Amino acid sequence: MINDWFWLLLPIAAASGWWLARYGVQEDCKEQEPSLDRYLEGVRYLLDDRTDDALHAFIEMVEVDHETFETHVILGRLFRRRGEVDRAIRIHQNLVARPTLSPAHRAQALCELGEDFLIAGVLDRAEAVFRELADSPHQAVPALKGLRQVYETQREWERAIEVGDRLKAHGLAHEDQRIAHYHCELAQIALAKGDWQAAGDRAERAQAMVPRLSRALLIQSEIAARRGAIREAITLGRDAVALTPQLAPLLVPRLECLHQQLPGDNRLAQLEEVLDDLARNLGITMARIALMRLYRRTQRLDAALAELGMILAQRPVPTSGLLEAVRWMKILPAVQQYSTEFAAFEKALADQLGSQHLYQCVNCGYQGRAHVWQCPSCRRWDTLRGLDFDIDQSTEAAEEALIQEGTPKP
Ligand SMILES: [Zn+2]
Repeated sequence: MINDWFWLLLPIAAASGWWLARYGVQEDCKEQEPSLDRYLEGVRYLLDDRTDDALHAFIEMVEVDHETFETHVILGRLFRRRGEVDRAIRIHQNLVARPTLSPAHRAQALCELGEDFLIAGVLDRAEAVFRELADSPHQAVPALKGLRQVYETQREWERAIEVGDRLKAHGLAHEDQRIAHYHCELAQIALAKGDWQAAGDRAERAQAMVPRLSRALLIQSEIAARRGAIREAITLGRDAVALTPQLAPLLVPRLECLHQQLPGDNRLAQLEEVLDDLARNLGITMARIALMRLYRRTQRLDAALAELGMILAQRPVPTSGLLEAVRWMKILPAVQQYSTEFAAFEKALADQLGSQHLYQCVNCGYQGRAHVWQCPSCRRWDTLRGLDFDIDQSTEAAEEALIQEGTPKP
């Protein structure tokens, strides 16, 4: 949103600067230059989101006037915005090649070229351009942001941390959050290699930058589980979900698996306590559904029905709740003669659930079925949150395993 407005306002600033530089302040000038009229017309088209008309206006101006820097920059951006990156690259390369360009204008044209290369996916050339600019007195911050995007895309987290540190030195806010996630990425790589020590160090460094970061707690929970410290793993997982309840879809199945590994006979009771806490105190529908299944499988049908009633009392009614209701009803003896119809209901609801998005970015509204730590649309970190009421992540297998292991029925 901010980027859009910034983008729209740039031509206005450029137009006034361009006009002043070209014609100076002439108080006796009664009529506007025709080319300025055309320029302002192009800006108006941009403000009205009429990109094609704006593009036409700026192409016309460039044909009449080959020299004006800002016009070429805007034209290149328009081509880039329309996905015509090759044309944007040609315009910006021609600008950079001009021998008479001031250092500030050359840096600006180079930065535009780097953006073109980023969009085109030519990351090595984008990196070379941004590296050249990163130490210059002009465009250092945009160049470092460009470099950051290159390294994030390439998943070169050590280099991304270096660039993040440099951006911090330029006074940029929110860099700690990004850098903490780079450390978490490195922690997960270490975890995948079985290097718990390195993973733990990285998670600690992430937490040192952003105290009580849910993702770092999740990683520490995973490390504890691999060390066999199951109770610690459960506690860390509960801390993570308490901090960010909308990450529950990542946590509920995991907590159920962890309880399977607990020693002793009361693991179901402990799981019940955890799910009850998540459902009642944090309002997590997914935990309530897991709790209902637990009651049902341990033959506490009244308690299970009460939970189902609460799920169905929600507005909007969660599709996952409706699906649970149908799954339950279809096994009742009274409806056996309608088993085909109930199977059709179940399939229809399951299909609907299967086509729904499960996560949404709180920053840009992007929706997807898989959880990722960096939003693919706005590239912000840790902005995806579970659309809890629409999640049907079956946990039956975990519960079956718990029960089959001989946990006494209450
Ligand atoms: Zn987003």
